Amino acid sequence: FGTLADLIRVHAQQRPDKLAIADETARVSYAELDRLMDRVAAALQKGGTRAGQAVASVSYPSVAQAVVFLGALRAGSVAAPIQPSATPAQIAGMIADSGAKVVFLDAANADALIGQDVPAEVVMLDDLEAWLAPEGAAPTPVAVHPSDGFNIIYSSGTTGVPKGIVQSHAMRWQHLSRNTAAGFDTAVTLIATPLYSNTTLVSFLPTLGWGGSVVLMKKFEARLYLELAAEYRATHTMLVPVQYQRIMALPDFDDFDLSSFRFKTCTSAPFKPELKRDVVARWPGLLVEYYGMTEGGASCALNATEHRDKLHTVGRPLPGHEVRLIDDDGREVPAGEMGEIVGRSGAMMNGYHGREQATADATWISPEGARFIRHGDVGRFDADGFLILTDRKKDMIISGGFNIFPSDIEAVLAEHPAVADCTVVGVASEQWGETPVGFYVPREGATAGTGEVLAEVNERLGKTQRLSALYQADELPRSAIGKVLKRELRDRLIAGEF
Ligand code: ATP
Ligand code: MG
Repeated sequence: FGTLADLIRVHAQQRPDKLAIADETARVSYAELDRLMDRVAAALQKGGTRAGQAVASVSYPSVAQAVVFLGALRAGSVAAPIQPSATPAQIAGMIADSGAKVVFLDAANADALIGQDVPAEVVMLDDLEAWLAPEGAAPTPVAVHPSDGFNIIYSSGTTGVPKGIVQSHAMRWQHLSRNTAAGFDTAVTLIATPLYSNTTLVSFLPTLGWGGSVVLMKKFEARLYLELAAEYRATHTMLVPVQYQRIMALPDFDDFDLSSFRFKTCTSAPFKPELKRDVVARWPGLLVEYYGMTEGGASCALNATEHRDKLHTVGRPLPGHEVRLIDDDGREVPAGEMGEIVGRSGAMMNGYHGREQATADATWISPEGARFIRHGDVGRFDADGFLILTDRKKDMIISGGFNIFPSDIEAVLAEHPAVADCTVVGVASEQWGETPVGFYVPREGATAGTGEVLAEVNERLGKTQRLSALYQADELPRSAIGKVLKRELRDRLIAGEF
């Protein structure tokens, strides 16, 4: 059984000088990457990290972080990239949960563990050379099985405490093999999202597995993204919706030469149909949207370039994936009706790391006894088998006995000319149980006041959907991969910040 680390060795032999990974200051060829991976693996083994054990990193995306991620794989260890934007206590908690005995920090996140007692060796990525095994070191080869852990991803915590999701080698092979026609072997993939997100890994890893080149951005910035795309003649990219939005909003977007692009993807949060239409019209190359979750159940894909009449959907299940919809009692809903999305595939997570109850809660067993993963999202299939997402189940507002989906209200709010960005959350109400409350970022130059916007929007909403209140914000809180943090807004509202 060959791993991704083995594939990189093959590329190092066949195309040693080809660029493997670049960031804004460093670059490595396949031959250099392969040697560095050996030196990481040998140092890990010498330090006592066993096969199957996690190797943590807390860093902005960089060549150095990629080297320790991939080097860990060569030692049969499990890469555990962790989100630097979490608090030191949360980061320490994730490291402890992963069981890592070594954690790598970049200089920008040197304070990530401040005040925490972590039972792991801390290595600075800027000083990696000093920690590595000597040039020419060779790690002891390890046998890997398809179901062995490849990486742990901590769920973004959009709906609660982050859970460690163990993704296997088999899952990664599935991502590699479903991309046979995507041209990753000649790709220059520009990445502007962090390595601790599956969103990133589903383009980062296939690029390296197929022998293409990756360009990493430390932090996303719309103009810099376009400059790098032009400089490297980027062919592939994975961006989250808010990044597409910021890039397309640049007044001189059309002046950039983006003719090198062949394959653009998007996932992780609702992608507005108008924005998809705009990307298809003004940005060369295919646009494919994925709907899925790190746990690996449902993966649907929409080829937005081909299916212009289906932009309100997230496409159809990919081969090897099965998606069903269930009601609150766990029964499948009749065709065409709305239900909670459950999915299964040939390669799903083994479970949440050390959390049997959470794993059981996320599982649905079909009448034939197949194990599905519950997504916590609600949706329905159209007559052509395309999945239309409604909303997250946890975000659903139950007001006076009615089920209200924030996304329906958000769609109306977003259409108001004074609204640049918006979200709707449910808050406790004595009268209704819960009631919808809106937040919006005003569009530059807008003249309508909040009261006016609220009145005009409520006029267009159903009686039960009407907003009880609307607040202005300078910006909506978002995770590093662009998900609106509704819990944070609700907490800030309760704390009296609005
Ligand atoms: P947590 O489970 O901790 O709350 P999370 O669910 O946000 O975090 P991920 O596995 O990264 O963590 O994200 C999966 C979720 O992202 C899906 O369940 C769905 O809600 C959302 N999502 C993914 N793709 C799309 C898409 N194309 N359109 C809309 N939402 C999407
Ligand atoms: Mg989730």
